[in-house]
Amino acid sequence: MRYADFKEHEIKRTCQRTYEKPSGYRPYLKKDFHDRCCYCNMPQNLITSPFHVDHFVPSKEFKGKRDSLWTDYENLMWSCPKCNLSKGDKYKGDLMGSREIVNELFYNPAVTDYNEIFYRNEYGGIDSDDEKGREMIKRLKLYRPIHNLAWLVEHLEILWKKLEEELQRETDEDKKEILNRIKDKIANIYVEQAMAFRAAYNGRVFQERNEDDEL
Ligand SMILES: [Zn+2]
Repeated sequence: MRYADFKEHEIKRTCQRTYEKPSGYRPYLKKDFHDRCCYCNMPQNLITSPFHVDHFVPSKEFKGKRDSLWTDYENLMWSCPKCNLSKGDKYKGDLMGSREIVNELFYNPAVTDYNEIFYRNEYGGIDSDDEKGREMIKRLKLYRPIHNLAWLVEHLEILWKKLEEELQRETDEDKKEILNRIKDKIANIYVEQAMAFRAAYNGRVFQERNEDDEL
């Protein structure tokens, strides 16, 4: 069941120049992708490891055929380590057939509005009614509980901040006390869940690295 939109931001590419290495684009990717993973929408600040520069058309496919894709900004995506590793070298398409950057296995997050493909279900999980969207959930392992947990942690933090704002405005002392107690409870749950999330995210798979990691 659809519970909430998948994301609340728009990805807009603003880099006009070219760099020799994909890592040169990191500040632009961070800004243009709102510092969120373009595949699972997780904010970077939830984890301690740096995000990866993902090649939408994987380097294994274009090496020796269309080498410009190594540093073509349009082919670079801002991805969390887990999504980048799950995506790996998965590719389908005709590389030489058109100049466009297409990987038929995935909707391009900078071209297609993921809100039209994905949504959050009542458990905070990533869901889709679209066939290719469902395949993407499998390919990128977006069904993993860490994604529900990431969403929960983010929303607990939002709730905590809202309660703090409410407290600033409240003048009635009795109401203030109640609000304070709720805020403390939410803050404790947030801290616990954020720790659980990090432990789950930094699992063994996370230790694996792929070539994009060092970019
Ligand atoms: Zn991700």
